Amino acid sequence: MPKESRPVPRATPETQHFWDGTKAGELRLQRCVDCKHVYFPPRPFCPSCSSRSVSVFKASGRGRLLSYVINQRPHPAWNAPYSIAIVELDEGPRMMTNLVGVDADPRKIRCDMPVVIDYADVTPEVTLPRFRPAQG
Ligand code: ZN
Repeated sequence: MPKESRPVPRATPETQHFWDGTKAGELRLQRCVDCKHVYFPPRPFCPSCSSRSVSVFKASGRGRLLSYVINQRPHPAWNAPYSIAIVELDEGPRMMTNLVGVDADPRKIRCDMPVVIDYADVTPEVTLPRFRPAQG
């Protein structure tokens, strides 16, 4: 696989737990202590009830493909075509990501298919969460 040269995310105090998690091979989500809402992306308060009493937990890394688009245009950092996906996690939140492990071909990708997380070390500091079709 060709090496990527795209810009990578930088952790902030609000997202540090998430990036520490991907580096450790864990998808870490947040849950509101007061109303139990599970959410993503990371933030220091609950988007449902505004409580600042939130916890971090290790998610399953499983979900289903909600939607996707196949980018056909070349990009300096990416070899086209590639799939940009929205995955609905088993815990509820939706995550924009990339679909890997399957050709970027609409004949091979179907919405609602089960997917699992796939961690990619893109720099020594940053590991990106991506998703691939689940086996069986
Ligand atoms: Zn809440």
